[in-house]
Amino acid sequence: DLKIGQRPIRQLDEAAINRIAAGEVVERPASAVKELVENALDAGAGQIDVAFADGGKTLIRVTDDGCGIAGPDLPVALSRHATSKIDGSDLLAISTFGFRGEALPSLAAVGRLTVTSRARGGDGACLHVAGGQMAEVRPAALTRGTVVELRDLFYATPARLKFLRTDRAEAQAIADVVRRLAMACPAVGFGLRDVTGGGDGRTILRVEAEAGDAHAALKARLAAILGRDFAQDALPIEAERDGLALAGFAALPTYSRGSATQQHVFVNGRPVRDRLLTGALRAAYHDTLPRDRHPAAALFVECDPHRVDQNVHPAKTEVRFREPAAVRALIVSALRQVLADAGHRASHRGGA
Ligand code: ADP
Ligand code: MG
Repeated sequence: DLKIGQRPIRQLDEAAINRIAAGEVVERPASAVKELVENALDAGAGQIDVAFADGGKTLIRVTDDGCGIAGPDLPVALSRHATSKIDGSDLLAISTFGFRGEALPSLAAVGRLTVTSRARGGDGACLHVAGGQMAEVRPAALTRGTVVELRDLFYATPARLKFLRTDRAEAQAIADVVRRLAMACPAVGFGLRDVTGGGDGRTILRVEAEAGDAHAALKARLAAILGRDFAQDALPIEAERDGLALAGFAALPTYSRGSATQQHVFVNGRPVRDRLLTGALRAAYHDTLPRDRHPAAALFVECDPHRVDQNVHPAKTEVRFREPAAVRALIVSALRQVLADAGHRASHRGGA
């Protein structure tokens, strides 16, 4: 066996680079769904429909009515580090979900990918990539928007396939991703269907685009996703301090859950999983909830993009705040305040 010192140093080919990057971007079917739905949102879609089969392992299809991709641009969109969203000069001030130009080439490296699209004023076109081989751009019938179809995820990497969980668990993860993005974007309509076995399949989620002002639209969307009982009594949160803003809804302690599945946090419009934020949420309810109960809330933190790094990991679900203590303090104090006010209101009613 050759030792590394005896081997020549070579540049990896594009296909190998894509497979390596894909490992970080696409962990499971739900991560592919996340990337594709985010692309549709970035394209300004008003309606996004997701269909999947066998937990997303054999088929994921995302259809949108966004700006589309012009036929001649399809090969570029599918190549590595190609993006229309940033020019690379200010990596912190990013307002789109995507910017790394990695999703489509990564998906093409780990599955059979077909993109069909039509940009305004252009003709429909379609491009298929599998096993690192890109076919020719072909004409295709489509009235508008984009359809991305990913088949046989990880077919070329059986090791990855083995790590996937049951179809049921993967389907659950897909639904979680779509629900979170639907909460983040109340003005967009979402559909999610399980089409295992063919046919029209089974509808898992269907929410209409919410019209009206942001606050009312968010409340309606949370009612549609988290349930009427959450939305009915949820306390509106609105606080601002030193350029940090907090908005959203938090449930009364009486609505608490046995698990943390109804805690949703968003930073600058992006769903995130962050210990600091969920820790602050727990701390705020500390005095009002028993230890085995979990508060339910959807919290939206907004701040100058220069004060938070969202580019910690390729999946972009982790964030790093420049002043974590200030963020925590804002959440804890704002939530304690509304909980205390609600408690007073309740005890006054009780005494009357
Ligand atoms: P990123 O989202 O980081 O830019 P992607 O690989 O996900 O990278 O997509 C590459 C490019 O393809 C995008 O910048 C965009 O121009 C185009 N694109 C991808 N999906 C869509 C879509 N659904 N509608 C319109 N354009 C899209
Ligand atoms: Mg993207």
